[in-house]
Amino acid sequence: MQVSEYFSDRQTCIEYLIAARWGEAVRCAFCNHDKVYTLTGKNKRFKCAKCLRHFSATKGTVLENSPISLQKWFISIYLSLSNKKGISSVQLAKHIDVTQKTAWYMLHRIRAMMRIKAINRKISGLIQIDETFCGGKNKNRPWHKKVKYSQGRSFKDKTPVLGLLDSNGQIRTFVVPDTKAITLKPIIYKTIEKGSIIVTDEWKAYNGLSKDYTHFIVDHSRKQYVNENGFTTNSLEGAWSHLKRMIIGVYHKTSRKHLHRYCDEFTFKYNTRTMSDTERFDFAFQTVKGRLKHRDLVAA
Ligand SMILES: [Zn+2]
Repeated sequence: MQVSEYFSDRQTCIEYLIAARWGEAVRCAFCNHDKVYTLTGKNKRFKCAKCLRHFSATKGTVLENSPISLQKWFISIYLSLSNKKGISSVQLAKHIDVTQKTAWYMLHRIRAMMRIKAINRKISGLIQIDETFCGGKNKNRPWHKKVKYSQGRSFKDKTPVLGLLDSNGQIRTFVVPDTKAITLKPIIYKTIEKGSIIVTDEWKAYNGLSKDYTHFIVDHSRKQYVNENGFTTNSLEGAWSHLKRMIIGVYHKTSRKHLHRYCDEFTFKYNTRTMSDTERFDFAFQTVKGRLKHRDLVAA
């Protein structure tokens, strides 16, 4: 409630956005030039001294060109970020008085904002690697659509997600088409510095990684959860149970098409889990971008 009071007028939202994006010195939203004029007028707009283009604080962000008021956006972002398990479009629609369809679209745009917070540099040190399978609950399905052998690593009707968890407790997730070596290894090589220590289970796709990494295996098929050297993938499995609770609890079912968006939300929330709600809100706005147009969403 405090948040909706604080962001109850457009001007406050704009001032907040400017401070979060640029701090004291506004930069051009097109060319990033540091000399910018503030134009007079009620809606705070700027003009770049170099490329001469005009822009507002929402330029290039998820909030750009939206018919929804900034106040509603800010409240929605806060609600979405502060609910550990997420918020459904039905709940959000009620809360800010928009249609469920609009709320669904807004939540996907907020997820795009969370996605760009993913760190791009390689990770190193001690990394747990594991996959999980999302979607496709057999028991909720008519008998003729039930899939045989859909437990464990058979993913006929589930979508695999690869996770890499570093020793700072930061996770990266990747929605993948399958769990073959040819699919998983390029992601591992692209994301983890060679020479790092990796811990996996006995899945054969991980064979051969010991050429470039110190590879410890926890043999789950032998009901081993801590290997002889004391290594486990337990933290990552704990993270997966959060992901599954989020998907089952709030979103009920998640299509393969949109699963990566829910994984973005999960990843962002997991990696900011030690922040307070207001810290997480500020953090999400610090490089607020991730513009997601409706046609991209439908086409994706
Ligand atoms: Zn410019």
